[in-house]
Amino acid sequence: MSEQNPNQTITHILETFEAALKSGDTAAAVALFQPDGYWRDLVAFTWNIKTMEGREQIAAMLNSQLDSVKPSRLKIADNETATEADGVTQAWITFETGVARGTGFIRVKDGQIWTLLTTMTELKGHEEPKGFKRPMGAEHGARVDRTSWKENREAELETLGYEKQPYCLIVGGGQGGIALGARLRQLGVPAIIIDKNERPGDAWRARYKTLCLHDPVWYDHMPYLPFPDNWPVFSPKDKIGDWLEMYTKVMELNYWGATTCTSAKYDEAAGEWIVEVERGGEKLTLRPKQLVLATGMSGKPNLPKFKGMNVFKGEQHHSSKHPGPDAYKGKKVVVIGANNSAHDICGALWEAGVDVTMVQRSSTHIVKSNSLMDLALGDLYSERAVAAGMTTMKADLTFASIPYKILHEFQIPVYNAIRERDAEFYDRLEKRGFMLDFGDDDSGLFMKYLRRGSGYYIDVGASDLVADGKIKLKSGVDVVELKEHSVVLSDGSELEADLVVYATGYGSMNGWAADLISREVADKVGKVWGLGSNTTKDPGPWEGEQRNMWKPTQQHALWFHGGNLHQSRHYSQYLSLQLKARMEGIPTPVFGLQQVHHLS
Ligand SMILES: Cc1cc2nc3c(=O)[nH]c(=O)nc-3n(C[C@H](O)[C@H](O)[C@H](O)COP(=O)(O)OP(=O)(O)OC[C@H]3O[C@@H](n4cnc5c(N)ncnc54)[C@H](O)[C@@H]3O)c2cc1C
Repeated sequence: MSEQNPNQTITHILETFEAALKSGDTAAAVALFQPDGYWRDLVAFTWNIKTMEGREQIAAMLNSQLDSVKPSRLKIADNETATEADGVTQAWITFETGVARGTGFIRVKDGQIWTLLTTMTELKGHEEPKGFKRPMGAEHGARVDRTSWKENREAELETLGYEKQPYCLIVGGGQGGIALGARLRQLGVPAIIIDKNERPGDAWRARYKTLCLHDPVWYDHMPYLPFPDNWPVFSPKDKIGDWLEMYTKVMELNYWGATTCTSAKYDEAAGEWIVEVERGGEKLTLRPKQLVLATGMSGKPNLPKFKGMNVFKGEQHHSSKHPGPDAYKGKKVVVIGANNSAHDICGALWEAGVDVTMVQRSSTHIVKSNSLMDLALGDLYSERAVAAGMTTMKADLTFASIPYKILHEFQIPVYNAIRERDAEFYDRLEKRGFMLDFGDDDSGLFMKYLRRGSGYYIDVGASDLVADGKIKLKSGVDVVELKEHSVVLSDGSELEADLVVYATGYGSMNGWAADLISREVADKVGKVWGLGSNTTKDPGPWEGEQRNMWKPTQQHALWFHGGNLHQSRHYSQYLSLQLKARMEGIPTPVFGLQQVHHLS
């Protein structure tokens, strides 16, 4: 028997797979997977964001969805060739369903599918007007009732939300709401984005003045309009604010600034939401069919309750309210917390000549920015990756192609290498008493982010200040109480303070549903974020995907959107397609609607 080349291996398995799917032979299709193989689907087969783990789950999905999905034309993507390394043959693939076209990635090991990613790219008949389909702009010829682009745009802005209801209302106009708004615009879904801040980008502008993005530019592009080649690697927060404002304008988004959502209620009979908003002092009721909460993972401050907070005579605020160091020169500041915000704030305070102490209650994962860029992100998101032909779309899909169940196995070696490379740095920190961790299973930053969205600092300099004792450190202690001019810690020590900053993180997005809709709906929907990994702050059972993000929830027509810039860019595509399909009345049978195991 002749050896197959990688293209033949993939083509053969795809042809066999398609034949089984087309004949409804689920058993034959499932047998092509390894017994513990994975199929991650982003909307194309499941109308959900779902990973099927093992043959049994794959069979259950196919038995439920195959008749309606009608997959066809599975093949290696045009202009791509399969590759083989370390016993794994892999390839970019394309396919169609009855209603959509899709892109995916396949990995084959020992002649069977190890991982399969299928994602919906576009709905047939509802392709975005871009490339060969881009709009003309000008209308050549002669017309007596001609109106200009500006007049049309003004008319839209005047009528939407008043004479005409949006199909979708996005509450929250940070980068999440804006990215989704841009995708819906391209899909022709009437949408309004509302934000209580005046201008797009204000959520970033309002943060402490020294903040720069911790993720590099290649990871941060918005949909459709990537940053130019001269954009800095780490965007200063006001610069990203300006970009978002410009983006909102040129992408022609219906963005209502200075508009607060005060309540929302689902009207079952009408099949629409009744959303009360205040727009520049005017009360309005909107009636969208779909409601997206893009109110931010970092929007609901967790403010601890310590004895004596009411007797403390100095200033105290949550990190989200921290203005930066200028007003505190020569003063004594205690920062409660030891994650990203705490480090950024402490570093800036030290630079301004402030006597600053960080209080660390539990361990923190620290990774040096350079090491993260070189070893963790570099292959997908870097100038080196771009030079090697990596595109943002391919990088996003490559990342998405590794099932969450095994992602930590890919991450552990990376963080072991980082630990080795920066051993001296970690040693210095530990000698100073700083409590370090690499995640419960040593899988590092991304897993911590996906599981709990907290517990780390990407070091851009503050750790050296801690290691050198310039930022003072009290670790392994908790706050017992605040006195008039000091903070008392559980080891009996007392820190004088003019300012206390609570860098104590943010609450779950579930809290937004409770605030804006009702506790009942928030409980019905359950916890937002996390994988159910049964690690610290991410209780089991295993869910396989991030809870409630970008996918149908237990509350009809309620969606959650957000995450970092990469996630907002990537997953807004799938959320927008789900919304568009519903608007067009395309059947969207959801497989495996997630169950609720935790409330908040
Ligand atoms: C200090 C800090 C540093 C960070 N660094 C990075 C980074 O480097 N890279 C990265 O990707 N992410 C970073 N993040 C995470 C960051 O929060 C998100 O990437 C980003 O802000 C999320 O965007 P979002 O649109 O989901 O939410 P947000 O930007 O929080 O936007 C939510 C919006 O909802 C609005 N809103 C809330 N309630 C209502 C209401 N009732 N009515 C109307 N509007 C409402 C708010 O005004 C806000 O503008 C950082 C976060 C913090 C706090």
